[in-house]
Amino acid sequence: MKLAKYFDKIEEGKVHCHLCPHHCVIKPEGLGACRARKNIDGNLFSLNYGKITSAALDPIEKKPLFNFYPGSRILSAGSFGCNLKCSFCQNWKIAHDTPRAQELSPLELTEKATELIPHGNIGIAYTYNEPSIWYEYVLKASKLAKDKGLVNVLVTNGFIERKPLEELLPSIDAMNIDVKAFTAGFYNDICKASLDNVKQTVELASRKCHVEVTTLVIPGLNDSMEEIERLSEWLSSISREIPLHLSRYFPNYKMLDVPPTPKETLYKAKEIASRHLAYVYAGNLR
Ligand code: SF4
Repeated sequence: MKLAKYFDKIEEGKVHCHLCPHHCVIKPEGLGACRARKNIDGNLFSLNYGKITSAALDPIEKKPLFNFYPGSRILSAGSFGCNLKCSFCQNWKIAHDTPRAQELSPLELTEKATELIPHGNIGIAYTYNEPSIWYEYVLKASKLAKDKGLVNVLVTNGFIERKPLEELLPSIDAMNIDVKAFTAGFYNDICKASLDNVKQTVELASRKCHVEVTTLVIPGLNDSMEEIERLSEWLSSISREIPLHLSRYFPNYKMLDVPPTPKETLYKAKEIASRHLAYVYAGNLR
């Protein structure tokens, strides 16, 4: 547990968190919407600081990052909590459940990453749960890792406020950002979040580090070719070189009634996006 950054104390012992666009007002002893931040005696604390629920040395392509040190491996670590409520979550046991965790300080994580260099490791990927609400830990570990010459990667939903993002970006080398759909309605209704904030993150981050984008294509919800085209046009207005991963959906979590995405949909979407972007990948085609 660690005193959080980006909050104000307000009336009656409440706190106001400014880390992500939810801007939670949290009563004494209450939790934020991410379940990772708690008001204790009128101060906001990060509950997932130093709590590692999952760690593995993964191929970088698994993040997915295809155009960043291809063929390398990266120590991937995650904690718990998420600030989105996507009913199709593909990682809900870590994001929305309470998995077992082991304690590992930022220094210990960077030491582990350094030990793994002879095994092909190039750095640390903050992944599995949402790294932006693991903020204080990621900020500390990424600075330590950078000082040791390691790279830092965020695999994120991009739903973070501008100021904390700007503080974090100098130690981040690459990001894979989910753009879950390209309509405000999808973000409002299915993720309880907003598309504009995620677009802002992609725009800011792509000026500072390597960025790839992932969209999980879900039948009937975000799979129209018109939407795929608008997404690709917007990305290409930032840079044609931003890789786009179009990923196949499988039923999960609370969305069990929607069938897997037909492979043909992915192939067609790839063809359309490729008119605007230099690198488009269709993934999860098992
Ligand atoms: S980081 Fe958590 S507590 Fe803070 S505003 Fe976002 S959801 Fe709420």
